[in-house]
Parts: sequence; structure tokens; C-alpha cells
Amino acid sequence: MFDTVLVANRGEIALRVIRTLRRLGVRSVAVHSDADAGAPHVRAADAAVRLPSGYLAVEEVLAAAKLTGAQAVHPGYGFLAESTAFARRCAEEGVVFVGPPAEAVEAMGDKIRAKATVAAAGVPVVPGGAEPGDLLEAALRIGFPVLVKPSAGGGGKGMLVVRSAGELPRAIESARRTAAAAFGDATLLVERYIAGPRHIEIQVLADAHGNVIHLGERECSLQRRHQKIVEEAPSPLLDEETRRRMGEDAVRAARSVGYVGAGTVEFIVAGDEPGHPAYFIEMNTRLQVEHPVTELVTGLDLVELQLRVAAGEPLPLAQDEVALRGHAVEARVYAEDPARDFLPTGGRVLTLAEPGDQPHVRVDSGLGAGMAVGSDYDPMLSKIIAWAPDREQALRRLDSALGATTVLGVTTNIAFLRALLADPDVAAGRLSTGLIDQRLDSLLAAARGPGGAVPAEVWAAAALVLHDRLAGRAGDDPWEVPDGWRVGEPAWTTWLPATRGERAVVKVRGLPARGCEVAVGDAPAMPARLAWDGDDVQVTVDGLTYRYACAFDGGAVWLGRDGRSWSIIPHEAGERGARAGAGGAGDGVVRSPMPGTVLLVKVVPGEQVTEGQPLLIVEAMKMEHTVTAPADGVVAELAVRAGQPVDMDAVLAVVRSEPMDIPTPADTSAPVDIPVPADAPVPADTPAGEGGS
Ligand code: ADP
Repeated sequence: MFDTVLVANRGEIALRVIRTLRRLGVRSVAVHSDADAGAPHVRAADAAVRLPSGYLAVEEVLAAAKLTGAQAVHPGYGFLAESTAFARRCAEEGVVFVGPPAEAVEAMGDKIRAKATVAAAGVPVVPGGAEPGDLLEAALRIGFPVLVKPSAGGGGKGMLVVRSAGELPRAIESARRTAAAAFGDATLLVERYIAGPRHIEIQVLADAHGNVIHLGERECSLQRRHQKIVEEAPSPLLDEETRRRMGEDAVRAARSVGYVGAGTVEFIVAGDEPGHPAYFIEMNTRLQVEHPVTELVTGLDLVELQLRVAAGEPLPLAQDEVALRGHAVEARVYAEDPARDFLPTGGRVLTLAEPGDQPHVRVDSGLGAGMAVGSDYDPMLSKIIAWAPDREQALRRLDSALGATTVLGVTTNIAFLRALLADPDVAAGRLSTGLIDQRLDSLLAAARGPGGAVPAEVWAAAALVLHDRLAGRAGDDPWEVPDGWRVGEPAWTTWLPATRGERAVVKVRGLPARGCEVAVGDAPAMPARLAWDGDDVQVTVDGLTYRYACAFDGGAVWLGRDGRSWSIIPHEAGERGARAGAGGAGDGVVRSPMPGTVLLVKVVPGEQVTEGQPLLIVEAMKMEHTVTAPADGVVAELAVRAGQPVDMDAVLAVVRSEPMDIPTPADTSAPVDIPVPADAPVPADTPAGEGGS
């Protein structure tokens, strides 16, 4: 075994590799970009080296290995994991690349060659045809619908479903353009479009002595944007016989390219066809994000096995020694907003709680409190994996672990993941790669809350927290405490909290910390009380108590409970924010829907635009988002240039149309006399600086 290994990655996977190195007594070396100087993986390693040019800098990584005496480099996934140039440079420098031989990566790197190679070894591939052959002729032979794919593809880019011969020429033209731009290779193939497709993949392991085994399958059919978000082992679809057959196919595929190390052979399985035939689609020549589910059902450490194989050791177990036990499910926590087409979000982590000590729950996380989540890297924040003797219990454990996860300050997909796990088809194991798309509206509604809306008790909690904060700032001066006391009847304070297009009217009378009354919307007033416990707040309304994680971010208050989080702003700011949100009309302020870079500006100041007309394109993580005019008007202001980095919600442009109409608050209850500190949230009916009655 090596005594020092460099981990050429960041985030959760770097931490995960370092954990195994530590357990094996191997010295670990981290590398980091300038932005990651204080990142958790840097703190976890025995030594760390700065990469001035970032994680893709081959020569800088090699220099770091030399500097620290590392004999091997573990690339994790992404970055240099599938770079044959890097693997070759490692070999030249006498550093072991913990991964397969460059030739195997190359053979599997292009879909046409990979399919031809494994088909020759007797592995079933999706019927189709490839260039330089005639794609139309192939499509007619296999029958429509067909899928057009770039041979050099990845991430689902450039793939198009074509339903008839007439549509094919245009689809080919479009896929070719995408392929040339994204991969620098315009070669295409067509495949039969498999109906009710399920993504099932087999983990393989090979050593340098000719031994190849498989560790069973993972089902990864729950995908959005052609990318996995929930994975499990075993697949609820496969029986023993199919598992054995697919395992043997995967081993044959690995052997056909002289594979060494850990790899994954991906199959598309026709979920709707009798016998569920499984066809090879591609091989991933690295450790996969979802490898933990295999580790939990096999009891093996795949990183340890990768290191042993790279050090020249034979596999420590034979195929008949692989035993699968129980069921494991992984959910990927992303900084993304499912309601905004799963676009990446960002922000600073204000509060973080991860399910630390739940039995049979594993958390592979790269998160840290205070960390800035930006657009430089993949928006995956962590993975939560649960194991149980059976699938139903594993799903329940995973759901409960997600419910115990709190991330305030950054919008995540946690509530969406919980909604997904609760879907009846997901619970029953009836999966397909199209499930999330087909069910999107109901999943989004369920993620918002019961009834598809922010629960009333959350509105109440937000108003009580804001009110209490104001009371705290007022100090001990009895005349400044917003308890509603006045000569005559005690008065109500009206709060108008808002979050992402939804808002409420909440009235509070009295002091929340001492017991008060709260009324949400038209509902009758209820007795309420609030108690702080560190940064958590316990809110009781009408005898029912909930505990929230709470954080303040400028004028907004973040509340978190059950894996959900709400960023709530009082009316003034809320109104502006809501109206300026993605595509929202109103004051004509156009904001960036995600942190990223302005790719293209399509208009000039003074230009007349119509509603829906593209104004700019913002790009993050290779995802392009077109920002459109919220209404007819004139581009009054253009705040950015092409190439400029922008934060989420940064002002991009202002489109001026009609004179602004300012909505008047619905409620007219008497305002109370509260002094408002300059940076405090402003209750709706108390204009800052003007005083009240
Ligand atoms: P990429 O390399 O771009 O990720 P893949 O070939 O791995 O492309 O396919 C990505 C996803 O597209 C698969 O997980 C599956 O959901 C779907 N897919 C691929 N091939 C087919 C097919 N022939 N029929 C139906 N769906 C397919």
C-alpha cells in the first residue's frame, strides 16, 4: 500500500477519499483552489497544496504530488477522473493514477466505439446505427421513435427523441450543432427509443491480474435534466436471474477493454417490455457519485479496493464471496431550486445541521457552516444514504434523515426529495427516468407544503420571530416595546411576510416571548408564545408547538423545519423581491435567476422590447438560462456586460413600461408606535422613519 496519496478533488468526494486513507493509515494530501483555501477537505487532510490554476491543472497537481512525496493520485469523480492526458502524465512522472488504464478510458469514451466493442464481446446493446453509416436508413430499420445522440456525449446534452422520418433531418442538424459546440465532435448515432426506460447500472471491479467481479446493481432511474438525484441498491425491478445475467454482461464489457479498477457499466432497461431486456449504454470509467449504496449493501469500501488494485494487489474476494445484504438508498442534496427548473442557487450557509447519529444513516457531505456556495463548482452539497433490511424501511430512514437536515441561507432540493420519496410509484418501486418530469407539478406542490402552500403555522412563526426581534431591539424602555399597549384598547401589529410568490397577512398583539395573540389571514386570533433555544426557536400557536432553526440574513428571516426551509421577507422588501423575481413583471427590474456568468447580452439601453423577448443569457455549470423581458417597454438600464459574474438575484437590467402601481396593504388596523432601527425589518403598517399614530 502507498504511504502518501494525493486527492485531486474537492467537496464531499475529497473528504470521503481522505476518510478511507485515514482508516488505512495512509497520509493524505489535499489540493485546493484559492476559493477553497478554507474548505473542509483542506482541513481534513494531513497536508494541502494550493493549485493556482484550479483543479484541472495537470502539471500543478503533479508538482503537488512531487512536493509532498505522494506515490499515487486519487482523482475522485469529475475534474481529472477521466482525463487520459492526466493518466498518461502520471505514468511519465512515476505517480500511480488510481483509475483504469488510459486505453480503457479511451475505448469507452466514445459511444459508437464502446457499443461496437462490447457488442463484439456478446453484450446486448440498444439496436441502432452510427455514422459514418446512414442514420435515416438505421432509423427506418429499427423503427420510430428513435433517440439521436452525440457519440462523444455526456450529461444528456444533444440527445433528441425523434418520432417520425420527417422529423429526423432537422433533429440530426440540431444534435450535430450541439455536439460540435459541446464536445468538439459532431459524430452522431441513433438508437431505438426505449419506452418506460429504467437506468440500472452494475458496479464492476477488476485487478491487474485478470480478475473481474461485479458487486450487483444500482437503480438510478430518478433523474432530472438527465441527471440522477436518488439511487438505490438493489433495484426493485430485478430478480436473481436478471441480476446474474446483467452482472455477467458487465464483467464481459469490462474485460473487453482490459479494464482495471472500479467502474460502472450502465444499462437502459425496458421497464414496460416483458422480461425487461437490459441494453448496454455506456461505461463510466471512475468511481461514481452513487457508489455508497453499493458499499452499504456489500459491506465493502470501494475506495480502499481502488487503492489496493492501484497498488498492484489482487482483488481480496471472488465473485461467489460477494454477498448483498438489505437495501440502501441515496439522495443527493443540491443547491438548486426545483421550482425554477432545478437551476442552481447559491448563498452563504447560515445554519447547518446534518443527521449525525441516526442508525444506518451515512452522510457524505462537503458542507460547512459559513461556507459560500457559488457557481464555480457543481451544486451538489452532500449525499444522504440510508440502509435497512428492506426497501420500505430504507426509504423511511432516508426520509427521516432528510427531515433532520437543515441548511439555511441556501435554497436546496431537500423538500423536493422528501416529496419524491413519498410519491406512491416511488414507494412501490415503479420507477422510470421520466417519472420526475411527468409528476413535476404535484411534486413541487407537495414540496411547498401540505396543500401546496406555505403552512399557516410557518407564517405565524415568521411574524412572531420578526415581532420578537423588534421587541428585543427596543430594549427595556416600556414606551418602545411593541406589545401593543396604548391608552385604550391594546393594538395589533400587522406583518406582511412574503416568500417566493406567496405572502400572508399576520397580525400580532402582545409580546411573543411573554405570550401574545396571533392571527393568520382571516383565521381567528390564537394564543401564541415563542421561546429561543440558542439559534433555534420554539413557537407555540394554540397549544401546538414546532421547533425551527432560525437565521437572519439582512432583512430576511430563514426558518427551517423537517428538511424544509423558508426565506421570508416582510412586506416592503418582500414585495419588491417578489415582483422582481424570475420573469416577474412589476417594477421592471430583471434579476439573475442563479449565480453565474453573463454569457450574452442581446439588447442595448434604450431598445424597445416586448414581453418575453430574450434580454440576456446567464450561464452556470454549463447550463444556459435565457432571461426575458418581464413586460413590453424600453430597456432603461443595463447593469451588466457579457463575461461578468453575477450573484443570484443580482440586477441585470431594468425595463421601464407603465408608471409603477404600488399595491396598498389590504389591512387597515391601527399601527403601533414602534421605533424602527435602521436595519430592522419593517412591519408593513409602520413606515420607517415616520412613526405611527
Ligand atoms: P450521456 O452520456 O449524455 O449521459 P447516456 O447515453 O448515458 O447519455 O444516456 C443518458 C440517459 O438518457 C439515460 O440514463 C437514459 O435515461 C436516457 N437514454 C439513453 N439512451 C436511451 C434510449 N435508447 N432510450 C430511452 N432512453 C435513453
